[in-house]
Amino acid sequence: MTMHLDDDALVACVSCGLCLPHCPTYRVTGLEIASPRGRINAMRAVQYDGAPVDEAFVGAMEECVQCRGCEAACPSGVQFGHLMEETRTSLRDEPAARPSTPRRLAEWLGYGIVLPNRGLLRFLTWFLWLGQRLRLIPRRFGLPTLRARDLTLRLTGDADAEAILFTGCVMDAWQRPVHRSALAVMRATGARVAPSPSTRATCCGALHTHAGRLDEARALARRAVASMPGTEAVVVDSAGCGAAMKDYGRLLGTPAAEAFSARVRDFSEWVVEHGAPEVRATGKPVVIQDPCHLRHVQHAEQPVHRLLATAYDVSTTADDGLCCGAGGAYAVLQPDLAGQIRDRKVDAIRTAAGAPTATVLVASGNPGCAMHLGAVAGLEVRHPAELIEEALQ
Ligand code: SF4
Ligand code: SF4
Repeated sequence: MTMHLDDDALVACVSCGLCLPHCPTYRVTGLEIASPRGRINAMRAVQYDGAPVDEAFVGAMEECVQCRGCEAACPSGVQFGHLMEETRTSLRDEPAARPSTPRRLAEWLGYGIVLPNRGLLRFLTWFLWLGQRLRLIPRRFGLPTLRARDLTLRLTGDADAEAILFTGCVMDAWQRPVHRSALAVMRATGARVAPSPSTRATCCGALHTHAGRLDEARALARRAVASMPGTEAVVVDSAGCGAAMKDYGRLLGTPAAEAFSARVRDFSEWVVEHGAPEVRATGKPVVIQDPCHLRHVQHAEQPVHRLLATAYDVSTTADDGLCCGAGGAYAVLQPDLAGQIRDRKVDAIRTAAGAPTATVLVASGNPGCAMHLGAVAGLEVRHPAELIEEALQ
């Protein structure tokens, strides 16, 4: 198989192993092939030595959470996330790596039909709501509790908005109250704000990029760029979406995409830059979970800490931002590994809270992490925007 991986990125690894302790799959398995170094060596073997694309190779690539914790730790600047995206793109054309027919059908429906179509996603969400009401959907699936009043919640915008809140796909359908809180906090800074256009700006393509569906990701990126012309800040309250949108310049390779990416800010980043609103000190303890795509990719986790510290008694986990195991569709595709990785994160959160058994309030700026961790009894996971809205004067 020809993988067409970037040679510069592939040879940049000097096999030092400094990334290994930062890799969640290596930490839970202890296997070299489940580490960044092992995966890069396997990629090199296929690209340069004609090694076969067998089950072991495909498994090693699929078991990567794409958290990019290895990038943050790498002294050689290896762009592991891009290598993994390109590898997954190559595997999609490889017969030996072809997934089962039901999985291909599910992926076609999910990535190709539902995610890019906001109206369809919102319509299908009502069936999920009904399933939850009838107790047909187990809590371990990690879906947020859907409420009819949230599904019909309208987000209002101000005239001449100076910042646009990107509302996205899954988050817009399942977590609209987070968007409402984000808009309320942004307004409390004195800014005029508006949600992104409801029909044109839909999915950002982050999940497609993760899955190696780069053509679809590019089409969605072009649509997002075209739907938000102008110079207003584009504020994103999902760390995964924000990371993808800040990377549109590289993904599309056009000056327009570069200019768009330069306008993108994470929610907390924008609020802190703009001037945090007045809040009251609640005295409530909160453990902050740094989503990987905020910490390792956007390098923008500090504004969350600064913002929440104005109103809460914040603490952080002592695990160097090790991944929680959510990773896009990872928790669905690799439930065992995702569960083991999550167990470590939950231990770190409970240690930070000093509360081995009591309910712990956790702040997370990524919907995937919030759903994955929220399925664990005893953790109450809230978005920083919701917590700050509660503390507004
Ligand atoms: S992206 Fe995350 S899971 Fe994948 S190799 Fe790097 S550290 Fe490990
Ligand atoms: S990816 Fe970076 S940190 Fe990991 S082994 Fe290679 S050079 Fe070392």
